[in-house]
Amino acid sequence: MDRPLDDAHALLRAARAWIAEFGEEGVTSYEPPPARAIPAAREVERPPPEPPAAGTAAPTAFADEARPTLASVRETLGECTRCALHEGRRRIVFGDGNPDADLMFVGEGPGENEDRQGLPFVGRAGELLTRMIEAGLELPRSEVYICNIVKCRPPGNRNPLPPEVASCRPFLDGQIAAVRPRAIVALGKPASSLLLGRDVAITRERGTWHTYRGIPVMPTFHPAYLLRQYTTRNRRLVWEDLKAALAKARER
Ligand code: SF4
Repeated sequence: MDRPLDDAHALLRAARAWIAEFGEEGVTSYEPPPARAIPAAREVERPPPEPPAAGTAAPTAFADEARPTLASVRETLGECTRCALHEGRRRIVFGDGNPDADLMFVGEGPGENEDRQGLPFVGRAGELLTRMIEAGLELPRSEVYICNIVKCRPPGNRNPLPPEVASCRPFLDGQIAAVRPRAIVALGKPASSLLLGRDVAITRERGTWHTYRGIPVMPTFHPAYLLRQYTTRNRRLVWEDLKAALAKARER
């Protein structure tokens, strides 16, 4: 099969997953916003990447290092062209925060603002995440570490495709190995599905503990989803998840 057909099939699979995710989240209808109200690209929740098949952990360039540094992971990444996402990016969005953080947040991928600034979670969803960390958990954002499963913005803000996620995964693994957080918060279905190694129904599995490479992982809603579904209940659920994650990170 040629490349255009491959891409078309991948986009169709992504669209189906997107519709399934909305159904899972209880969305039964959709009214497009007026043109001027279209949210910034970063705030559009994307369908999940397909998780890797069981038992096919991505090879990591850092497996042999006892504890790589974030600088060495970033240096290895370089001006990466390992997947097609490099073609449309302005800047690589590597990560941000405390290199020794106890608590790590992993999202899906950079949006427009992140691509422009080279920093993760700096759009509207990022502002909400920052408020949750600083006003809710009473931690400076600089105390935690924040990154995404892919470091380059997908064109048109589409879902990162499985080969793109697989290409970038060793660098997420390198970041986790470097930071060695005591707990990871997986923001939204795509990050949760990648870290749990299977398709995650985020509405059912948020608030439950899992592990990734021995590190406790708490799936919760992506802040972009919270912006769309800004209900008291959803805010309370995320608040409970973040409190539990912070408590886990502080366990000694
Ligand atoms: Fe490289 Fe990751 Fe960007 Fe792909 S998404 S080009 S693997 S940095």
